[in-house]
This record gives sequence, structure tokens and C-alpha cells, in this order.
Amino acid sequence: MPGSAVQELTALNKPSRVTCNIDLGAVGKHYGYLTAPYSRNESAWGSIQVPIITICHGTGPTILFTGGIHGDEYEGQVALMNLARELEPEQLQGRAIIVPSLNLPAVRAATRLSPVDGLNMNRIFPGRRDGTVSEMLADYVYTQLLPLTDIVVDLHSGGRSLDFVPSAVMHYLDDRSHFNRTLAAVKAFGAPLGLVLRELDSEGMLDTAVEDLGKTFISTELGGSSTLTAGNVAIARTGVENLLRHFGVLEGEPTPPEAFGRTPTRLMQTPDDRSFVIAEDDGIFEILADLGTEVTIGQPIGRIHDFNDPKRPPAVYDARRSGVVFSRHAMGLIKRGDCLAVIAIDWEG
Ligand code: CA
Repeated sequence: MPGSAVQELTALNKPSRVTCNIDLGAVGKHYGYLTAPYSRNESAWGSIQVPIITICHGTGPTILFTGGIHGDEYEGQVALMNLARELEPEQLQGRAIIVPSLNLPAVRAATRLSPVDGLNMNRIFPGRRDGTVSEMLADYVYTQLLPLTDIVVDLHSGGRSLDFVPSAVMHYLDDRSHFNRTLAAVKAFGAPLGLVLRELDSEGMLDTAVEDLGKTFISTELGGSSTLTAGNVAIARTGVENLLRHFGVLEGEPTPPEAFGRTPTRLMQTPDDRSFVIAEDDGIFEILADLGTEVTIGQPIGRIHDFNDPKRPPAVYDARRSGVVFSRHAMGLIKRGDCLAVIAIDWEG
């Protein structure tokens, strides 16, 4: 056997370098930490401690809830901290494993990427046990948490650079029953939009890693601009509780959005590149069609102004298909290559 293969096998048999100080199978509610070694100048024997909560009772599926994979996305983190405090074990048949702020260094720094290693935690799955802090944490999720887990719910929002119509999100999946059970969960979440999304780049995402295992994976885009609104936090909070009911971990049926005075979930999709409008200029971004607006193909949806040359007319960006503005660039400044807006169309399934 070649040396590298032997090394790989040895690495596979070694335990994760991230440790957990609670028993993930213990009945009841338990607050603990995932500890990732992080030796550095200011802390020679230092570590990163990522909070984890387990709530376990009776017999039923295990749902893993993660938030804060991108540190500047807050709706999911708050919803999961609230969920963890409010759920009592006696209410459950099954188990919730909750990691509200998985990329803790990025959460502390209010950044999308980890300041420790510069990595985007949602582009490095399945991770590496002998990698950086982000890679070790991803490896722990992949090798230690996913085997215990039936369903993964990973809560995202737009962060600093994007804003979204609050949505539960899934991907196009080849297997029909895999697709249908994921779509049913997306509906149960009860967000204003349920979106079947074509990613610009799905390599290394937790989503892809879980989907490739044949497990149910639900994501969200719950708002953005690196802030919180009461409405979006409420959608996140009722959504995660609805998923617990949908999968039978909590008793009763999911509460439909109408019961909270919200619009029913509209199922939509972004089937191909024509949904994405990409900036080809640098400048100040003027949105012409706000989030949630219906637009028609060819309609101007944004303009980019050249602040160095005010007499130059702004560059106009048109919708490349008719639909609803589902996402927009959130910041005042925009650069060539940035995603300016995304247009979703109704799901005809
Ligand atoms: Ca995100």
C-alpha cells in the first residue's frame, strides 16, 4: 500500500480533534461546548469553545440545527438560542442537537469568513481533522454529528452583503422521494417564500455534504443586511418549531403562516443563471425594484452610478426573466462581479 494511503487510513481512524463535553445521547436538556484546539501567540494552550445544546426525550428522529456558519447572519442564531431555552425535554419525542453559532470566531468578529483561517465554513465540507479551526469544526460536524442525525436544518440569512425575502430553501435533488420529503419540510417551515434554489457554486457546502448522504437538508435565507427585524426573527423561531412538529419530534401540526397574520408560503424557484443579475460596474447601487416586488423581463431593477463621473449616465440592469425579486445586494457600494439581484419564479411542480 502506498505511504499516502496508509496515512489516510490512519487519519480516518483517529478521533476528531474537536471534543464535546456533554453526552449527546443523554436524556434531558444539556448545555455544553465543542472545543477546537487553537494555539496562538496570545494563548499558547488556547481553544475555541462553540456552544452546543442537546434536548433529548423519548423515541423519534434527531434533528441537527445549526446557525452562524457565516458569522454576520443573526436571525438563525437568535432563533436557535430562543428555541434551546424554551423547549423542555418532556415535550419531545426524539432529539434536537442545536449549535446556534457554529463559526464562533466569525460570529465574534461579525464577519462571514472565519478571521482565524480566512475560510468560508460553508465551502469546506466535509472538513479535515488535521486542518484549521474551521476545517476541524466542519470535520466534527461531518464525522461525529451527521451520523447521529436524520435531518439537518442550517439557518442562513443575507449577512452584510445580501438581503432576502425570508425563505426556507432547498436544492434541486435527483432522487424523487428525497426531493419530495425535503419540499414538504420547506412548506412546513412556513416562511413567506419556499425556494428551490440553483446555487451558483455548491462545492463544499454543508448542504451538499448532507444531501449526498441521502439525508433531509433544509436551509433558510431569513433576511440580511447584518441586522435583525422582529418579523424575521419571528419567522425563524416559528419555522424551527414547525419543523420539529413536521418531523414528529414535537406533538401537533405545524402552525401555518396565516395563523400569525402572514401570507401563505409561496413556492418558487431559481432554475438557472437567468435568475441571477451580476454587476459589471463599480459604483453606488440604486435599487429600482424592492425585495418582494413582481418584475417583468426587461424591466430595469437597479442602476450603478459612477461617483467619479456624475455626468455619466448610470449603468442600468434589467430583469432577465419575469418573477419576484427574492434577493438583492444590500450595501450602498457595489463592485463588478457582485450579485446585484436574484429573481425567483413560481414553482410549477
Ligand atoms: Ca449564508
